[in-house]
Amino acid sequence: MKIDSLETIPIAIDRNEVFTISTGSSLTAENVIVRVESEGVVGWGNASANSVTEETTESILKALKNFKPEIVGKNVEIENNWKEWNKVLPEAPSALAGLDIALYDAKGKLENKSVLEFLGGKNEGIPTDRTIGHMTKSETVEHAREFVDKGFRALKIKIGLGLMEDVKRVRAVRKEVGNDIDIWVDANQAFTPEESITLCQKLEETDIKFVEQPVRVNDIEGLKKVTEETDIPIMADETVKDPEMAERICQEEIADMINIKLAKCGGLTGGRKIVEIMEEYDVEGMVGCMGETSVSIAAGSHLYNSTLNLKYADLDSHFMLSDNIASGLEFKDGKLWISEEPGLGMKIDTEKLDKYRMNLKGKQ
Ligand SMILES: [Mg+2]
Repeated sequence: MKIDSLETIPIAIDRNEVFTISTGSSLTAENVIVRVESEGVVGWGNASANSVTEETTESILKALKNFKPEIVGKNVEIENNWKEWNKVLPEAPSALAGLDIALYDAKGKLENKSVLEFLGGKNEGIPTDRTIGHMTKSETVEHAREFVDKGFRALKIKIGLGLMEDVKRVRAVRKEVGNDIDIWVDANQAFTPEESITLCQKLEETDIKFVEQPVRVNDIEGLKKVTEETDIPIMADETVKDPEMAERICQEEIADMINIKLAKCGGLTGGRKIVEIMEEYDVEGMVGCMGETSVSIAAGSHLYNSTLNLKYADLDSHFMLSDNIASGLEFKDGKLWISEEPGLGMKIDTEKLDKYRMNLKGKQ
């Protein structure tokens, strides 16, 4: 497909409430919406400013601006060219994700196919969780009740407030929602390996499905130790940013599961590469998100449906925003459903893009 133009639109949308995890707090989600034109169709993608890949709105805009000559006016094959692009954008996986998702969307519209048809798989409802940030025990329980009443069947509790306080919050949620709701916890690197092992022992009776990223991002040895010495499955998130690390995690059994996020691994192409590794090693995992809009969540949903190895879906960041810039994803009967329209199946509200467009004059 020939790329006629590449445009970036930085937007800032307030969350419904302040979101706090072990690594920080934020009220506003910043995203860069990527728009590509190709042979008369428009494809949309989403890059997120985030602390995991250390990309800011400014760095994403700069990366894609510099990248423009590599792609505009050229004929591209996403899967063939991606490796090269990944080399040109080495410190910008989220920027590449925005581009990759937009290209998939355009390709689908050109060929009248949904992204899922390219990836292979079945269009099924996605049992996404809702995430609960750091808050008091009673607020945690209140949020859990609200989400379960809305139909969600899985809750992810962000921990890292302190070992016993975290355990008390998880116990209280289990008591509130009963045994039919999945509970997951995410420490976002808050603990030492020893603390993590104690935490897992104390959480065993709460029947949680897994603990995500208990130790520091680069503590590979510590992560492996926790995985070996606990019965609760351990999921690697921040530690896995590319297919190479995913392969190492699987090969050396450093963690039991992997959390794929499109913004960490360069989009659907990088995500699929990790999925293929997980399939090869028979490792299960999750597709997650990082404060993105529903455009990115739709892409993650297509990826989720492309494999049985993605057992869990943490595709809820659009629910946490005070406005939705695109329609096409539906939450029904406790599950998220993608549209079967071509591409991502999303319709972008360009008036909302104007409304939330960031004024970065003088900053770039
Ligand atoms: Mg995580």
